[in-house]
Amino acid sequence: MTQQYRITLLPGDGIGPEIIGVATEVLSLVGKQFDLQFEFQEALIGGAAIDATGVPLPEATLETCRNSDAVLLAAIGGYQWDTLPSHLRPEAGLLGIRAGLGLFANLRPATILPQLVDASTLKREIVAGADIMVVRELTGGIYFGQPKGVFETETGAKRGVNTMAYTEAEIERIGRVAFETARKRGSKLCSVDKANVLEVSQLWRECITKLSAEYPDVELSHLYVDNAAMQLVRWPKQFDTIVTGNLFGDILSDIAAMLTGSIGMLPSASLGASGPGLFEPVHGSAPDIAGQDKANPLAQVLSAAMMLRYGLNQPAAADAIETAVEKVLDAGYRTGDIMSEGMKLVGCRAMGDVLLEMFGK
Ligand code: NAD
Repeated sequence: MTQQYRITLLPGDGIGPEIIGVATEVLSLVGKQFDLQFEFQEALIGGAAIDATGVPLPEATLETCRNSDAVLLAAIGGYQWDTLPSHLRPEAGLLGIRAGLGLFANLRPATILPQLVDASTLKREIVAGADIMVVRELTGGIYFGQPKGVFETETGAKRGVNTMAYTEAEIERIGRVAFETARKRGSKLCSVDKANVLEVSQLWRECITKLSAEYPDVELSHLYVDNAAMQLVRWPKQFDTIVTGNLFGDILSDIAAMLTGSIGMLPSASLGASGPGLFEPVHGSAPDIAGQDKANPLAQVLSAAMMLRYGLNQPAAADAIETAVEKVLDAGYRTGDIMSEGMKLVGCRAMGDVLLEMFGK
C-alpha cells in the first residue's frame, strides 16, 4: 500500500529556493520507487516571511508545520534584513520554529566521504575515515536564557546580557538522545562543556556522568570546549559521537563541517519528543552566491535522506538517496565549493539533473 506523507517545505531565503527545488524532485522520484507519496505544502519563513507578513515566523507557518509529518527547511537570512531588531530578524524565525516544534535535539553528522577527502583543508591522513555525529542541545542554553537584552546601566552606558542556563531535565533529555545515538554508531560519547569555568557546565557534566550508569555499553569521556575545538582539527578520528549545549554545539558543528571540505555537503536533523522533525542543511542562505546557480544542493538532498531515515522511518529510501549522491561524486561531478582538479564543474540545477539520472543506475 502506498504510504502517504505530508511534508512542509520552507525554502526561506538566498539559495534556499534553488536547493529545496532539487531535493523536492529527488524525493518525488524516490517516492515513486519506494511506493511513498509526498504531499508538499510550502510555507514562509525568514526574510521571505518578513517581506510578506512583517514577521519571520508567521503563526500560519507554525500551524502548517505542526500539521505535517516532517518539515524540510532550506535556509534563512540575508544582508537586507540585518539591520532589523533581533526579534524581527530572519534568525528569530529559525529559533522560533525550533522552539515552536519542541525540537530540542540537533543531530549533525560530519562524514568524510572518500570521494571528497581532498576537498578538506586538512591533510588526507588526518581526515580520511573520520565519521562524527554532533548532538547539539537546541532549545536551551544561552540563546534562550533570561535575562537577555541590551540594558542601560545607572551611568547611562549600555550593557548587553545573555544568560546560559540549563536545568537537570534539559540536560538529561539531550543526554539520552546522545547515548542512544552513540549506541547505534561506535558506542563512544564525548560530552563537551566548560566545567572549569561555568557552573552551568558543572551541572551538565554531573548530569551526563550520572546518566552514563544507564548506558554501560557506551564509553563516555568529557572535554572542555576549547580543547574539543583543538582536538577536532588535530585528530578528528578520535571522535564518534559528541554531545554538547546550544552555543558550543553551534561552533563545534561548524568546525566538524569544515573537516569535510564543504559546508554545502552537510545535512542535519532536529527532533523533539514527538511531532514532526525538522530537516535542514547546516549551511546558511549563502547570499553571496544566491540566484547564480552555484549552490551545492547535496546538503539539502542529504537532509531529505535524514528526513526519510529519522523522521519517516523509511531507511531504504534514505539509503537510495545517499547512494545516488555517492554515485554522482564517483562520476566526478562537483559544484564550485567542492571542486578539485580533473573534476566536472556543474551548477545547482545540473547537479540535480545528474543526481536524478543516478537513480536506478
Ligand atoms: P553561509 O553558510 O550562508 O555561507 C558561508 C559560506 O559558505 C559562503 O561563502 C557561502 O557561499 C558558502 N556556502 C554555504 N552554503 C553553500 C552551498 N550549499 N553551496 C556552496 N557554497 C555554500 O553562512 P553566512 O555567510 O555566515 O550567513 C549568511 C546568512 O545565512 C546570514 O544571514 C545568516 O544569518 C544565515 N544563516 C542561516 C542559517 C540557517 O538557515 N540555518 C545558518 C547559518 C547562517
